[in-house]
Amino acid sequence: MDKIDNLTEYFSKFPGIGTRQAKRFVYFLLTRNNGYLNELSDLIQELKKDIKVCESCCRFYTPNNSSNNPNLCNICINKNRDRNILMVVAKDTDLTNIERVGNYNGMYFVLGGFVSVLEKYPKQKIKIEKLLNIIQKRMENKELKEIILALSLNPDGENTMEYVSDILKPLVEKHKLKISTLGRGLSTGTELEYLDNNTFENAFKNRV
Ligand SMILES: [Zn+2]
Repeated sequence: MDKIDNLTEYFSKFPGIGTRQAKRFVYFLLTRNNGYLNELSDLIQELKKDIKVCESCCRFYTPNNSSNNPNLCNICINKNRDRNILMVVAKDTDLTNIERVGNYNGMYFVLGGFVSVLEKYPKQKIKIEKLLNIIQKRMENKELKEIILALSLNPDGENTMEYVSDILKPLVEKHKLKISTLGRGLSTGTELEYLDNNTFENAFKNRV
């Protein structure tokens, strides 16, 4: 395997990238100058150094050194956000997109992936234990009324939704929480990552 094939293999592991696109990335890099390549490889090497995982919502964020609570992201420390609603999403990109279209003012939790239909070890695929802990904690502080499962309407998303709601069921019933999904208003196959303002607003208003 030469270096072109080797790097192609790395890129083809990226989400949504096939071998052909991966190869185009490699040839693109070959046309760049050394300055560009050095900067890119520096950025990749430094990426995990300054980025943390938020202790509350589990998203990746850049800590603000002047913050009173450096273990929490800017959404979780924001006192103006509505702590009664917790929106559960699969990926960081879903969260950033919902923030971008932005009329949601509640809190989040990032599961970190999906549970596929035939998955044997779902607990290892998503942060379900952590989600349970967070919900417990919020309940102790009387801070939670509704959980919204905001997952894409594709087979993985729907299976994850079922898995999570089954696990949350006892807690939800015990504390009389409302659990809803963005079902209506999203068409089948919709990726949350690519939502536009109106679709999100409708789906949010019509949550069931
Ligand atoms: Zn957070």
